[in-house]
Amino acid sequence: MTELSELTYCKTHPTVETGLRCSKCEDYICTRCAIQSPVGYRCKSCIKGQQAVFNTAETRDYIVGALVAMSIGAAAAAINIFPASFGFFGWIIAFMFGGAAGRFGADMVRRAIQRRRSKNLFLVVAILGTLATLPLILFSDLGGFIFAFAFGTTIYSSLRGISIRR
Ligand SMILES: [Zn+2]
Ligand SMILES: [Zn+2]
Repeated sequence: MTELSELTYCKTHPTVETGLRCSKCEDYICTRCAIQSPVGYRCKSCIKGQQAVFNTAETRDYIVGALVAMSIGAAAAAINIFPASFGFFGWIIAFMFGGAAGRFGADMVRRAIQRRRSKNLFLVVAILGTLATLPLILFSDLGGFIFAFAFGTTIYSSLRGISIRR
């Protein structure tokens, strides 16, 4: 009965009248406190809690993910030793092949860690995977750097990109 006439106020700002509620905890929130999420408006503390859920990676994911990325990085770099000695043309091959290997590596890592995720995990995996490609520099200096750059940026952005969409 009283519900219709009762005024409600923001939990954080008790003087601000609002009818908006967080879609999770149902606290009243004003337009300043509300954050739009795919599942409706939420209060700041619920958004923070939600972000914690995005870090689902376990310790073994770091080890498994890094091993997969390093194996693929090292194998791809080994294959690239021959074309990387072609000079300028070899640099183009290194760039394209490095990117392809990075995408493949990201796919394999995702399977290995069963789509668990964390920004730090992706960074560690990308860095270690890239380090594993560096011996290529001994064989083809600039081509090796180009390969490592293409591999590292692609594996990292592929891992991150998919994590945002899912
Ligand atoms: Zn809330
Ligand atoms: Zn407020």
